[in-house]
Amino acid sequence: MTDATTRAASGTAARNAESAASFTALYGTEPEGIWAAPGRVNLIGEYTDFNDGFVMPLALPHTARAAVARRTDGVLRLHSTDMPGGVVQLRVDELAPHAGHGWAAYPAGVVWALREAGHRVTGADIQLTSTVPTGAGLSSSAALEVVTALALNALFGLGLTASELAVLGQRAENAFVGVPCGVMDQMASACCTEGHLLYLDTRDLGSRQVPFDLAAQGLTLLVVDTRVKHALGDGAYAERRAGCEEGARILGIPALRDLPYDGLDAALEKLAAAGADESVLRFVRHVVSDNQRVEQVIALLDAGDAPAVGPVLTAGHVSLRDDLRVSCPELDLAVSAANGAGALGARMTGGGFGGSAIVLVDVAAAAAVTESVLEAFASAGYAAPGVFTAVPSAGARRLAPAAW
Ligand code: ADP
Ligand code: MG
Repeated sequence: MTDATTRAASGTAARNAESAASFTALYGTEPEGIWAAPGRVNLIGEYTDFNDGFVMPLALPHTARAAVARRTDGVLRLHSTDMPGGVVQLRVDELAPHAGHGWAAYPAGVVWALREAGHRVTGADIQLTSTVPTGAGLSSSAALEVVTALALNALFGLGLTASELAVLGQRAENAFVGVPCGVMDQMASACCTEGHLLYLDTRDLGSRQVPFDLAAQGLTLLVVDTRVKHALGDGAYAERRAGCEEGARILGIPALRDLPYDGLDAALEKLAAAGADESVLRFVRHVVSDNQRVEQVIALLDAGDAPAVGPVLTAGHVSLRDDLRVSCPELDLAVSAANGAGALGARMTGGGFGGSAIVLVDVAAAAAVTESVLEAFASAGYAAPGVFTAVPSAGARRLAPAAW
């Protein structure tokens, strides 16, 4: 087990005791509860969620945790053990989008989104701590939003479902923080279950828990965190989103999800004839083909043929690299080194331009593949990536009071 896996899996009771004690020291009162929400990796279906398409994430054992106590005086106090700068104190009735607040905008945005939706949240003391690597494409931000939403939902008796909390988390990130993300990350953190993938239709949030027992087939899924994030990614997401929307508009469909794979060639001809930019054609081809790859993976898993998922992952990477153009040299190297060393398939996961890749590999070959990836990074002069196993873990939950 690598460092990250060990950290994520270790001593939950001890960690909870630690966070309860530090909450009490910080705020001078006991927390009313502790909640956890995981990060995620997406197996397949990338950049499809803002096209009403399909995705297939799994929750990681890495979680954001929140110790929370209600307040009735309109004060919101936020603290993260992972961030410098101490407690951020705000007033719930003064929360306004795009007001800055740094990291605190994520939990504050959730309070804002809940109140905007008419829910009575009268203030809170919140302490956050997380084992989800930040900015690694593993959704540390969604974990923070979902854990905050879940805790406030419970304490204020709001009665919202996991999907509703996910949508509020997305709204916090879109409208309050100002990041135009789709709903996959929050849905994965809120709704995944242990041992399963979440097959999610992002149009209506219909979902199915798909058993994902790789060990039974002698396989494992590795995450390679390249530990890089290229600045290029910042405007690229919005550009791709706009390109996809333009493609759908020219084709006269509500979203690219409505274009079936067997209509792709005709659609590309229509886009070219209409004078669409060549980038729009590439974006459309990626989204439609990745939706198709989700269907392929589902069919393979339902048929019990997990090894055959490998080449579909690699095809997804090629599409992200060449059509959507959201990969980067480090991600390409992780994929080529893993595949060159005998992995069944690999691809970048998440938004790209850095972050993480996933690798499907026989358990017996996992150590050699990991070694090859590390060697390839060293030879290229890149910092050593973090490699850990993606164990499909539980979604957001309250931790038992007895545990702390
Ligand atoms: P990702 O979600 O892929 O990790 P993002 O850029 O979407 O990357 O979100 C990362 C941001 O989320 C951080 O810059 C920080 O503002 C916030 N964040 C993540 N984890 C924590 C944490 N443990 N404490 C405070 N803020 C955090
Ligand atoms: Mg994020």
